[in-house]
Amino acid sequence: MMPLTLPEWMLAFLVANLSVVFAATLYYSLRRYRRMPRRRAVPFIFRCAACGHVYVDHRNVPMSECGKCGAMNENVKSF
Ligand SMILES: [Zn+2]
Repeated sequence: MMPLTLPEWMLAFLVANLSVVFAATLYYSLRRYRRMPRRRAVPFIFRCAACGHVYVDHRNVPMSECGKCGAMNENVKSF
């Protein structure tokens, strides 16, 4: 085993620290990326103005068609 000089020790310490930071960054960005599709699929609640039917639509649209009477209604509340 060869002895390391001071600059080599500092370099090894720096590389070890940077690889830990890089691994943590990679881990958290991949975790956030995996969660993204689930957050996009939140339901939008619609209440029909004609018949009072309450229904949900997973599409991000300003107006949705009522399943009972076919009238177009605006988004009431989204999560
Ligand atoms: Zn309706």
